[in-house]
Amino acid sequence: MKINENIKGNEIKVTAKVTGKRQITIPKEICEMLGIDTGDKVIFVEKNNKIIFRKEIDKMICPICDGTGDIEEIECFFCKGKKEIPLRYNSTLYYLINIVMNDARKYNIAITVINQQINEDNSVVILDKPKIIVNSSNISDEKIKEINLKLQELI
Ligand SMILES: [Zn+2]
Repeated sequence: MKINENIKGNEIKVTAKVTGKRQITIPKEICEMLGIDTGDKVIFVEKNNKIIFRKEIDKMICPICDGTGDIEEIECFFCKGKKEIPLRYNSTLYYLINIVMNDARKYNIAITVINQQINEDNSVVILDKPKIIVNSSNISDEKIKEINLKLQELI
């Protein structure tokens, strides 16, 4: 196994030799870069005449649009119309906050996270399970209620 490394600006070029059984060893630095560990699956995707090599991430059907890709005929804000979400985002709260940070304007989505409860005696209790409430003027009140129930179940 011979590895030649050539780093040019942000472009990293690493070569690996193919064995008689068409096997290659993924260079350590590539594994580190892509977060590839023993037992992980990798995927080769053809795009514009190039092969993209990446770690395969397990996906699940979007629970918010039930895999249809849209909510009331508008692209689903949760899966962004992709009908599925990567499993690494099974922390729904993190996923949602991320969406709101990046695409709030695009999807016209607002999110409220409530992680505390103030009692009558003014004492504050931090909730084990935060409450999340999503809102959007693009989606009917009825549908928003349904979405919020689904989200709460996911957290
Ligand atoms: Zn969706």
